[in-house]
Amino acid sequence: MSAELPVDILFERVVDRGLCTRCGTCAGVCPTGNIHFDEITGKCLPSRGDNCTSCGLCLASCPGERVDFQPLERKHFEGADRHHFLGAVRSAFLSYAVDLKVRAEGASGGVATALQLYLFREGRISGSVLYSPSADQPWRGEGIIAETEQQIRNSAQSRYHLSPMNTALSELAEKDGRYAMVALPCQVHGLMKALGAGWKCRAEIKPVIGIYCGNNLFFEATSVMLKKLGVKELEDIVSLGYREGDWPGNFAAVLRSGKVRRIPKLDFNQAIPFYINHRCLTCIDLANELADISIGDGWAREEESEKGWSLLLARSEAGEVMVREAAAAGAVHLEEISPEEASNMHSHGFDLKKKGAFIRLKLWKGWGRNVPVYDRQPPQLGLRRKIVEVLVSLQFIICSSRPGRAIFRLLPIKAVGGMFRAARKIWMKRSKE
Ligand SMILES: Cc1cc2nc3c(=O)[nH]c(=O)nc-3n(C[C@H](O)[C@H](O)[C@H](O)COP(=O)(O)OP(=O)(O)OC[C@H]3O[C@@H](n4cnc5c(N)ncnc54)[C@H](O)[C@@H]3O)c2cc1C
Ligand code: SF4
Ligand code: SF4
Ligand code: SF4
Repeated sequence: MSAELPVDILFERVVDRGLCTRCGTCAGVCPTGNIHFDEITGKCLPSRGDNCTSCGLCLASCPGERVDFQPLERKHFEGADRHHFLGAVRSAFLSYAVDLKVRAEGASGGVATALQLYLFREGRISGSVLYSPSADQPWRGEGIIAETEQQIRNSAQSRYHLSPMNTALSELAEKDGRYAMVALPCQVHGLMKALGAGWKCRAEIKPVIGIYCGNNLFFEATSVMLKKLGVKELEDIVSLGYREGDWPGNFAAVLRSGKVRRIPKLDFNQAIPFYINHRCLTCIDLANELADISIGDGWAREEESEKGWSLLLARSEAGEVMVREAAAAGAVHLEEISPEEASNMHSHGFDLKKKGAFIRLKLWKGWGRNVPVYDRQPPQLGLRRKIVEVLVSLQFIICSSRPGRAIFRLLPIKAVGGMFRAARKIWMKRSKE
């Protein structure tokens, strides 16, 4: 009887059961390069070759089926207070990059980029693991090891499409020195599981800068929105940003002809119900709970400023010291706020991930759908909230079906965008604690 290979178990348990987050960790840790991502603009799933040595790293590092937060929290964030939505937090800030250009080029306040530039200039890191625009196909991202200031700056902003960035870990494993990493929660989960499973990386990865993540979308969302904006071919695009210009920014494509096609970022969100990765609907980590530092949009300042603000949470002691040093050196501006304020400005995101996701986990399991397992207790929620979640789940299932997507392609961009903005405002107001 031949034993099943770990990579086959990974595909059976995670990929084939719809639990893949597309973090890219399995490919990044494989010592023989046996796992690949070829179809980033399609389903963006890993594929396997026949060069498996049965080391088991891909399976042990995968966050798709299970994430245990508590042992990692205890290990990395000793002494930090625990907030029921934010996770372990030593201090919380509203923040922006002091360099005006870095602030303007960032997704929110340019803080992720400013912190890396500070560490790089100080000689404290040799570079960063980042999700950057691809050199050959600038409309999509790819995982890179940035080792120059220019590469760090070019990677600023958020790319809202499935992003197996951790594929870049294979290159990092061969490097010496210390590298930062900027990553989504599931990419951080994959990294932490890999390190715990004995993945050998010569480079030290510190700090881990975690960006908030509400959800991520199939690349088709980007292609459909571009078509709606009159962009016929991806090859016509010289640069594509999802957060260009004044905060919260625009989804904007610069074409070879010099023309620019854009819509407000918040109008781009209309694609979410139609193109969301369903695994994201069972993800319970908005605030990147295992990172040294977490960064999201500083929504508390949304009404007052069109210059971006980021929300910054320092979780580990080393993360907190580094952030305060960066502020003292004039790299970032910091205004300390309470964890409650930090949590309240993302009330809609926590409603989705700290309430809705737990209901969905139970509900979907009951419907026979595959769901991941976490070592977090679900909150107590009333019947009304549960009924709302049934409707929300059905809405996602219907919208992302083939007919749902076909209808979406015909809908006028402006009318739907307006509806989504109004719904977001109501949701933010109603979900505040
Ligand atoms: C898919 C996605 C969903 C998000 N959802 C939320 C949300 O619900 N609420 C919220 O407050 N914030 C969310 N964010 C984070 C937010 O968009 C900003 O990234 C964050 O506020 C940091 O902004 P900044 O200006 O400080 O960072 P910047 O200085 O602009 O740097 C951004 C960094 O993010 C990295 N990055 C960009 N795209 C990706 C990607 N796809 N995968 C991994 N790394 C990437 C870049 O390499 C860069 O280093 C999301 C980001 C992404 C990519
Ligand atoms: S490691 Fe990440 S990309 Fe690979 S199967 Fe698991 S969830 Fe998917
Ligand atoms: S990581 Fe190990 S078990 Fe997985 S495919 Fe590669 S060699 Fe095989
Ligand atoms: S919602 Fe969760 S699973 Fe989806 S991309 Fe974000 S961190 Fe990954």
